[in-house]
Amino acid sequence: MNKFRQLGIDEDILSSIENLGFSEPTEIQQKAIPVVIQKKDLIAGSATGSGKTLAFGAGIIQHIRKGAGLQALILAPTRELAEQISESLKTFAKHKKLTVVSIYGGVSLNPQFSALQKADIVVGTPGRILDHMQRETINLTKVKHLVLDEADRMLDMGFLDDVRRIMSQCPKEKQTLLFSATISQDIRDLSRNFMIEPVNISATPMVDPSKLKQVYYQVSGPLKFSLLYHLLANDTKGGLVMIFCNSRQMVETVAKNLKKNGIDAMGVHGGLSQNRRSDTVSGFNKGKITALVCTDVAARGLDIPGVSHVYNYDIPNDTKQYVHRIGRTARAGKDGLVVNLLSQRDHENFGKVVYDHKDFKIERADPPVVKRIETSAASSNARGNGRGMSRSSFRGGDRQDGRGRDRMRTQGERSRPFERREGGSSASRGPSHGGSSRSSDARPQGSGFRSRGGQGGPSRSSFGSRGSSDNRSHSSDRSRPRMGGNRSNSSNRRD
Ligand code: ADP
Ligand code: MG
Repeated sequence: MNKFRQLGIDEDILSSIENLGFSEPTEIQQKAIPVVIQKKDLIAGSATGSGKTLAFGAGIIQHIRKGAGLQALILAPTRELAEQISESLKTFAKHKKLTVVSIYGGVSLNPQFSALQKADIVVGTPGRILDHMQRETINLTKVKHLVLDEADRMLDMGFLDDVRRIMSQCPKEKQTLLFSATISQDIRDLSRNFMIEPVNISATPMVDPSKLKQVYYQVSGPLKFSLLYHLLANDTKGGLVMIFCNSRQMVETVAKNLKKNGIDAMGVHGGLSQNRRSDTVSGFNKGKITALVCTDVAARGLDIPGVSHVYNYDIPNDTKQYVHRIGRTARAGKDGLVVNLLSQRDHENFGKVVYDHKDFKIERADPPVVKRIETSAASSNARGNGRGMSRSSFRGGDRQDGRGRDRMRTQGERSRPFERREGGSSASRGPSHGGSSRSSDARPQGSGFRSRGGQGGPSRSSFGSRGSSDNRSHSSDRSRPRMGGNRSNSSNRRD
């Protein structure tokens, strides 16, 4: 507690922190809290799980007077995050009895009108905040603290214009705090336009890399679900599991089939009603649900303690998302396992992960023999989505082998695209390997992905050094219909 006290935190807030059982400030808290207390502008590079809420919350709460109007506005990318931040702030502000209100879309406006009248602190998503601004149902004239939480994510989600409009409508005399895992040009521009001599700090996330193990399985498309089921059903450690998919439809389908096969699973994505999402997430927090199947957006920033495994059912297209996903486990000194299930259509994205994160050790895991499970597509209740996905498209997104065998190895013997024999071909990713604008000759020979070997494969392996047969299989993969691919109907939305 002394270390918190040294940062200049009020006794009231210190006692709330003590009640929460925090013994020491995290790195970002150590660096940010004194700056926030001094009312300086701040740009903080800080990942999910690093303890940002208290990092900005402690100082802000200290400066807020109950009943003196809306004094702090916190913008967050998703409804769940807004909800979570406001719950945390309420706990930190318990002794001051501040009124903290969360404001987001997808729920009725009416209760928000009256709540906004009484709020000392508002935590909201940009779209709905702007909506209230246009209706003149939010009064920003007293705002003294503005926080952009997970700013990179907010911009990724297309909120740049909304954020700019909100920032420009807040009083000039105020403190602006910007937290982001990555600092892009847009974020620099925002800070140049709206911040005054900001202090720059950054902190490493709470995830402990030595506690994190990452593996991948090669599996043919039609057997991917069976492998997932097998791994979950044979997991003896227990614990909470997050399963990431790239589209709403895939979330629905995976969750449905897990449930059908007796696994306690729930899906969350942006197409579900707010109540359903909140119920699901709180069920997960209380340990009722053992597997949460989710899209990146729905999961982003949710603080779910005790996630033992992260499964990537689809590999994200954006390697930053991969980092966010794995940040869900191995928190606070606990062990964590990340399991990547790679079928043909994931190879390109996985290649990007491996290329961008040469520091990650992602080991190839021996494919178990799995019993094939028949699956069916979810009825299409990814909201706003008119079309369901046919069973064959779920099972056969990249089908390449025949059906009929009941028990089979999950990995076809034919292709092992993440490996190469000693002295294999060039390590560059050729131009035919679409999707990447990176210069292929930037990659040094033999760099990139290495498995540790000793797991049934060649001892030295490198991603990206594929022979021509592999390139062929990629292009044919692209021409097939994909699950969670590029079609623009909302079933493929990523939130
Ligand atoms: P972020 O916003 O960076 O994702 P949060 O503020 O949600 O991180 O905090 C992540 C988790 O860490 C929460 O469960 C929170 O209660 C916990 N936490 C925050 N600060 C501390 C601390 N100083 N000591 C222990 N746990 C902490
Ligand atoms: Mg947060």
